[in-house]
Amino acid sequence: MVQLSRDNLLRRGDEAYEQARLDAVWNERKPDRYPDVIVRAGSEQDVVAAVQLARSEGLSIGIRSGGHSWVGNGVRDGGMLLDLSRLQGITVDPAARTAAVGPAVKGPALLGQLAPHGLFFPTGHAPTVGIGGFVLGGGYGWDSRRLGPACLSIEAIDVVLADGTLVHATDTTHADLLWAARGSGPGFFGVVTRFHLALHDLPRRLLRTAHTYPLDMLDEVLAWSYDTLELLEPAVEFSAKVGFSPWLDRQTVSVTATAFCDTGEDLLAPLEDAPFRERAVRAVVAQETTMAELYDYADRMTPPGMRWALDGIWTDEPVDKVLDASRPLFESIPDTTSHVLWMLWGGFPERSNACWSSQAKLYLSPNTGWTDPAEDLAHEQWAHGQMAALQHLSKGLQFSDNNLADRFDHGLSPANAVRLEEIRALYDPEGLFRTYMVPAESTTAYAAAGHARTH
Ligand SMILES: Cc1cc2nc3c(=O)[nH]c(=O)nc-3n(C[C@H](O)[C@H](O)[C@H](O)COP(=O)(O)OP(=O)(O)OC[C@H]3O[C@@H](n4cnc5c(N)ncnc54)[C@H](O)[C@@H]3O)c2cc1C
Repeated sequence: MVQLSRDNLLRRGDEAYEQARLDAVWNERKPDRYPDVIVRAGSEQDVVAAVQLARSEGLSIGIRSGGHSWVGNGVRDGGMLLDLSRLQGITVDPAARTAAVGPAVKGPALLGQLAPHGLFFPTGHAPTVGIGGFVLGGGYGWDSRRLGPACLSIEAIDVVLADGTLVHATDTTHADLLWAARGSGPGFFGVVTRFHLALHDLPRRLLRTAHTYPLDMLDEVLAWSYDTLELLEPAVEFSAKVGFSPWLDRQTVSVTATAFCDTGEDLLAPLEDAPFRERAVRAVVAQETTMAELYDYADRMTPPGMRWALDGIWTDEPVDKVLDASRPLFESIPDTTSHVLWMLWGGFPERSNACWSSQAKLYLSPNTGWTDPAEDLAHEQWAHGQMAALQHLSKGLQFSDNNLADRFDHGLSPANAVRLEEIRALYDPEGLFRTYMVPAESTTAYAAAGHARTH
């Protein structure tokens, strides 16, 4: 049995424990949850040793790759936190158009290795999101309208199972494991040590249009965006944001479209045809851009170093109904950092080899960021409370942004949710791996009850 070094194994009470617990979560809003043991794996062998240790000590396992779960899903009470942040290897096979990628790899590092080969992957929008949780949870990344959610580009996984064995799962070997990995998010029941990703052609040009309108045009702009989606090629990513504009120093509604172009054609022309176009108070039109700039825009929208809470629903409901029901959400945006994203993904064909099955035309998501811990409850209740009020419109949640602890909704179709549990029972019969969070683990609930726990 491989031994974990002292540096890799921290127990509660050890000097380095608390910093390692805090570092496991990107969000400054850290969970009030304390694992008994933290293992910082440096290799696949360490992961196997960690699983063996957990079994021998009766510890359940929470996993951290890039640490970008908004609620710190890997950090659970008791048990083991298995921190994979050191697993950052990338091996590209240009001929096969695949890459073997460690779970903690970030988007810019991956794209940096792919670009010289003319290859691309739909990484998360912010540059700091880890591949692990992102691809398992569906993964709506750059160019995902055309390329699909990133989970559909997982070709195979290397995964350490609950019995400590390391297996390679493909569509023909352990196909049920790979089916589960494509979309179960925090409900996956194994430790993926390497993702084998199918790669795509590097778009030759990136063009970006952004129009900003006065806030009182909100209904008009968002309703138009709903119809305009049908006119935009899948190579155009299209969203709106309701929130503060730093350029204009006031609340606005802005629409942004990014074209991932293979040729020089103008995929963004439909935005210039908006009937209210001349009322834009700021306009960037089909400007050449780069992935570095796109990552930068995303990073500035949810900057690090702040406390964040998010929620969201998928919906296909008629736009008037969505707008009417969302009015309280738009009218109560708490401050200049917080905003509501109106993301028009449009739907993508589901596949029988993936459990991923929660999507719709629109993803509506409040994002709230703050710095004062005294405001935790107000912000968390805004995000989750406003979405609870829109539950009747929901076609499901996105595992990447939600946790079932703060607001229950389904993240998989009923049939796929049942099948996932059947497969879990085969591979993890004793429940070694933590699965979806439950209300008792919600930081919002702790705060609401006025007894945030101290340890
Ligand atoms: C600033 C920011 C921007 C974001 N942008 C996007 C975006 O554009 N599109 C999008 O779809 N999502 C986005 N997200 C959400 C993000 O994809 C999810 O939070 C995702 O879980 C992050 O992956 P991670 O590895 O960094 O997270 P972690 O917190 O490390 O992992 C989250 C959970 O995923 C599971 N998991 C992770 N790695 C493994 C593994 N190797 N084996 C088994 N299970 C594992 C575990 O249950 C783990 O607790 C964003 C999040 C943030 C904070």
